[in-house]
This record gives sequence, C-alpha cells and structure tokens, in this order.
Amino acid sequence: MNKIAIIGAGAVGATIAYATMIRGVAKQLALYDINRAKVDAEVLDLNHGLQFVPMATLEGSDDIGVCAGADVVVITAGAKQKQGQTRMELAGANVEMCRTLVPQLLKVAPDALLLVVTNPVDVLTYVVQKLSGLPARRVFGSGTVLDSSRFRFLIARHLNVAVQNVHALIAGEHGDSEIPLWSSATVGSVPLMKWSAPGHSRLTDGDRTRIFDNVRNAAYQIIRGKGATNYAIGLATAQILEAVLYDENRVLPVSSRLDGYQGIGDVCMSVPSIVNRAGVETVLEVPLDDTEREGLRRSADTIRQAIRTLGF
Ligand code: NAD
Repeated sequence: MNKIAIIGAGAVGATIAYATMIRGVAKQLALYDINRAKVDAEVLDLNHGLQFVPMATLEGSDDIGVCAGADVVVITAGAKQKQGQTRMELAGANVEMCRTLVPQLLKVAPDALLLVVTNPVDVLTYVVQKLSGLPARRVFGSGTVLDSSRFRFLIARHLNVAVQNVHALIAGEHGDSEIPLWSSATVGSVPLMKWSAPGHSRLTDGDRTRIFDNVRNAAYQIIRGKGATNYAIGLATAQILEAVLYDENRVLPVSSRLDGYQGIGDVCMSVPSIVNRAGVETVLEVPLDDTEREGLRRSADTIRQAIRTLGF
C-alpha cells in the first residue's frame, strides 16, 4: 500500500494533501508538523472530506514517527517568502531545519524517495541529498514544474488554445535566474516560434518578454495578495507523486543533481527528466539555442554559489 508523508502542514503541505487525496494518489497519507494544533486541525478537516474522494487513511502528528514506512516523503516545512523577499533569502533558516529533519526521516522512512518543495528548492534539494547520503536519483525537488505550468497557462491564454496542447518548459532555478526554453516549445506539434493560426494571435518579442516576466514574478504577485502560493503547487506536486507511485516514466522539469549536463555539474536544478518509481531516472538533453544554454549555465552558477555560501 502506497504511503505519502508530508512534512509541514502549512499552506503548501495541507494543499498537497488535499490535491493528493482528491486524486486518490495514495492510500495512506501522513502529515507531520511541529505545530501540533495546526496539524491536528488540518487532518481533522481533511478527514471530514474522505467520504467524497477515493478511500484513503489520513493521520497527523508532531511526532516524526507518523512518517514511518513512507514510500515518498514530501518536504514542505520551513520558512516561506514574506512580501518582497526572494526564495534565496530563506536558505539559511531552511538548511538548518534540514540538518535536524533529514536524519530523523532516514530513521523512520529509510526506503523513501525524498521530494523537496521547501524553498529555495534547488539549494535544499542539493543539501538534503548531501545530508542524507542517498543516491541522487532518490532525492529531487519540485523545481520548475510549477513555473512551467504558469508558463504554459500564459502561452495558452495568449494564443487561445488549450493549455494541455502547449508544451513549453522553464528550466534552471525555481527562482529569479530561471530560463524559458522558447526554442523547443510547441503547440499541437507546431514549433511555438513559427506559430501562426488565424484567430489565434501570434507571439511577438514583446509578448514573450511580458509572458516570461509574469512567470518569474508570479509568486511575488500571489504572495502580495494572499501571503502564500498553494493551489498550483498542490496540484503540481500531486502530479509528481503520481509519476512516482504509478511508475509513469513521466517527463517533468524536476530539480535533481546534475553532473556533466550540457557542461553543467555539481548543482541541483530543473531540466526535463523522466520520473518513475525509482525517482529521477534520466535527465533529457533538450536542444538549446545559445541564449538558453548560456542562461542555464548562469542559473547553475547562481544556485551553486548559494550552496557554497552555506558551506556545502
Ligand atoms: P507555512 O508557513 O504556511 O507552513 C510551513 C509549516 O512548516 C508550518 O506549519 C510550520 O509549523 C512547519 N514547520 C516549520 N519547521 C518545521 C519543522 N522543523 N518540522 C516540521 N514542520 C515545521 O508555509 P507554506 O506557505 O506552506 O510554504 C512552505 C514552503 O514551501 C516555503 O519554503 C515556501 O517558499 C515553499 N514553496 C515552494 C514552492 C515550490 O514551487 N517549490 C511553491 C510554494 C511554496
């Protein structure tokens, strides 16, 4: 029986539990948070909805033992961005949390894959992999799965086509140095850069700049309005969990340890990757133009520098 453990019952952790429960991804869900009142309340509320979703069991605790035997552990606990704060500014506090958390997790769920969502997600994925000593493929981050869904949504809305027909990725850091992969984007098999369909707009240079700015600044905008982003990351994480637990071999831009990827190494960041029950099985070599290749290298440098500053 599949078991998902979620660390942190805040806005993100609770919404991942909700999305996962509605989609019936796991039969057993466990939430762990140091705030006992919060985790109890979230689990009670979720349990009251069980009648309306595929059958599952949900439990919560401030005791890490609740995560025992999990197949996947999703880490969402820790500090989040305050208004105007970048994700990188959270690094120090959240790395310290991982120093305590990771050994505890390894004890109770030694066979689990670790999926990092807490920000800065690329830095923390690297740190969690180092602290755990687990093989790189078993530790990965939600990366730019969310950014890519924002990207696809904005392209789809501009061209007035279904978002499911847009295939376009944001790669690199889940953060300010991320890179849009325009050159490989397609809409219904038509290369996006050549897109032209009567009644379905075109994509000018100005449109591309505006769309990418919106993607990069989306979290800042949402945090200004409601203090947290939760729904889309909840659904994005549920899809990653499905890819793992259903052994889907799904291609997703998750963050994982790269070594010798298009000249990039010793860093965690997002590139399209095949995700299955073993974790990140393979990273794919996407065709890149010169700007994209250079942008990805710079993004890797930014993340690596943050990792080094933290002493890893
Ligand atoms: P939140 O403040 O609502 O929740 C964080 C929870 O973590 C709190 O309930 C807190 O009690 C708990 N916590 C703190 N330290 C803990 C510990 N040591 N063990 C267990 N629980 C602990 O924050 P949120 O809005 O849920 O965001 C959580 C994280 O997710 C942030 O770092 C945020 O930046 C990140 N995030 C990532 C993405 C992404 O795409 N990767 C998207 C949205 C948010």
